[in-house]
Amino acid sequence: MKPEASVRTIRGLGPKAAEALAGRGIRTVGDLLEYYPSGYEYFAPEEEAGRVEPGSSCALRMTVLGNGSVIRRGARVLSHFEAGDRTARVRLTFYNMPYLRGVLQPGDVFVFRGILRQTKTGGLYMEQPRFIPAADYDALRGTLQPDYPLPKGISAGRMRAFLQAALEAVEAEPDSLPEAYRARYGLTDRASAIREIHFPSGRESLLQARKRLVFDEFFTFILGVRRQKEAEGIRANRRPMRREPAAGGGDWCARFLECLPFSLTGEQARAWEEIQADLAGPVLMNRLLQGDVGSGKTVLAFLALVLCAMNGRQGALMAPTEVLARQHMESFRQYMENSGLPVRAVLLTGSVKGKARREALQAIAENSASVVIGTHALFQEKVSFGDLGLVITDEQHRFGVRQRTGLLEKGEDVPVLVMSATPIPRTLAIILYGELQVSALRALPPGRKPVKSLAMQDTQRGRAYRFILSEIRKGRQCYVICPAVEEGALRELENVADYTEKLRSSLPGNLRIASLNGRMRPEEKNRIMEEFSAGGTDILVSTTVIEVGINVPNATLILIENAGRFGLSQLHQLRGRVGRGQEQSYCIFLYTGREKPERLEVLEKTSDGFSIAEQDLKARGPGDLFGTRQSGLPQFVLADLYEDAQILRDAAACADEILREHPDFRIRGGKSVDFSTI
Ligand code: ADP
Ligand code: MG
Repeated sequence: MKPEASVRTIRGLGPKAAEALAGRGIRTVGDLLEYYPSGYEYFAPEEEAGRVEPGSSCALRMTVLGNGSVIRRGARVLSHFEAGDRTARVRLTFYNMPYLRGVLQPGDVFVFRGILRQTKTGGLYMEQPRFIPAADYDALRGTLQPDYPLPKGISAGRMRAFLQAALEAVEAEPDSLPEAYRARYGLTDRASAIREIHFPSGRESLLQARKRLVFDEFFTFILGVRRQKEAEGIRANRRPMRREPAAGGGDWCARFLECLPFSLTGEQARAWEEIQADLAGPVLMNRLLQGDVGSGKTVLAFLALVLCAMNGRQGALMAPTEVLARQHMESFRQYMENSGLPVRAVLLTGSVKGKARREALQAIAENSASVVIGTHALFQEKVSFGDLGLVITDEQHRFGVRQRTGLLEKGEDVPVLVMSATPIPRTLAIILYGELQVSALRALPPGRKPVKSLAMQDTQRGRAYRFILSEIRKGRQCYVICPAVEEGALRELENVADYTEKLRSSLPGNLRIASLNGRMRPEEKNRIMEEFSAGGTDILVSTTVIEVGINVPNATLILIENAGRFGLSQLHQLRGRVGRGQEQSYCIFLYTGREKPERLEVLEKTSDGFSIAEQDLKARGPGDLFGTRQSGLPQFVLADLYEDAQILRDAAACADEILREHPDFRIRGGKSVDFSTI
């Protein structure tokens, strides 16, 4: 079958499954083949229970001993079983799976996989292990099996089967990248890369496969950017403005500054001068404002918006989340009130609906609102600006490229300011943005106490909880971060749903605990965040959705579970949620296993985001591929600008070469980038 064929041509794939796949944008065989796994399950060779280091993840081939017991505890049902091999006995605990008594029969042999732990008295146990009849394990031993974000109603097993069938039946297409270039950049052919990314024959070949596919994503993207520039007669970033620059006097800005409860730091003042000079100068602004979490970028964005408004034009500030957009809106209004400046701001996000939305859209179209704050709804909808004169994106690394350029298309000759707490190495910036100017805030505002950070083994969780309690007794609030939303493929990861329950049962009942995850509806997320922000919640258990820009100064403690799962920069971002007020704040990283991950040591020692970002880029090897990918806004499907910097450089070099040698080169396929929108 051809890649363009409908998924219905795949063996065993009926109309129901096809509909579920369509919900994920998968219609053709080719779409399915580009639906990459979000992670892999490794079926390790079995070990003997008595020889495994407690705390580590393992596969144990054991015989079920006895009948097991089922206990009801409140709403939960606990099942316990004993199993063992010739070296040791292990107690197995399962939650809410009473039917297991019919499955785990005495004398049966299974391979149990999970983390083997040890009680204080030396007893071995596993919680919620996954298990497979020993006979079935032979086919899986030593393999990596793909895990996919599952479309509704399709099991992991069926998803694997569909992919397997599609791979067997699809006709190989000629590789879009000529052999000579593949050899030059050490790339495998695309057809085997696709096969390997789904069903790796080993870790090394998986890395090779991923490298090729990441290369293609970058390459396609870069070619698209170059083509687009050509088509536009080089929309060079440093070029004269065709409109009047914002040269108006600075009186509003001066007033704004006077009314601030603080004065700008030296670095803020310098960055502001640079931004001001850009906006008033003859060349279109294209500037990146980098500064660590809490370094005070927002106020500079507000100043730029005020300057723009003063010159009669509109400024848009785009935030990656609804909650952050609302927070910006509130503080902007507050500032305007305090300073008495006549700048009208409107909010436009996905959850602004009905009349409020119509009014906002009208104000934007008529230029009666000079400041527009929102999420990517700013460009997704049919928003037309009366006179857009400035675009600012906050936490820009969280947006997809298309989302950024989408906003640009709303206005001709729009000066751009992008703000990021994750410094982008200069090379990457140049590839992506061409001639980008950079302002940096390297120091935090004065009086800020650095967050005290501590990494502990998760066996010490009790200590961490006591600490949480003592902070709450002082009237403070805490965040707890878990990597997963709910129990998923990687059982050993803490997940928000179960964790919140666990926390409720192990902490005093009067504590107010709420939970938050990225899959919730925006209104729900806002409600929970606002409640926390207003002090109505003591502990917020969340996935990394709170990573971005939230400002709750009364939160003084953040506890991060499975900290070893996150990248350095991400952990640093998470830590930045605390330390925003006057009080001393703390960050506790919990890790699994005896060995403290190196990056946690880095974080304990340093709080400088710039040096952390550099170390991150250096340190982030292929290892992260095997972690669960965090869901954020999509940027590239597989590629990661930080992790894959070297591949990005290669792809850029290759694109240059190809265009030099074959000016008419066109790439085939590659649905991940739609050129029309770049
Ligand atoms: P980020 O750079 O992470 O976006 P914010 O702009 O949210 O940081 O600023 C963090 C906090 O620091 C805010 O409460 C802000 O009001 C405050 N702040 C900003 N600049 C200064 C300054 N010069 N002096 C004191 N506090 C400041
Ligand atoms: Mg910010």
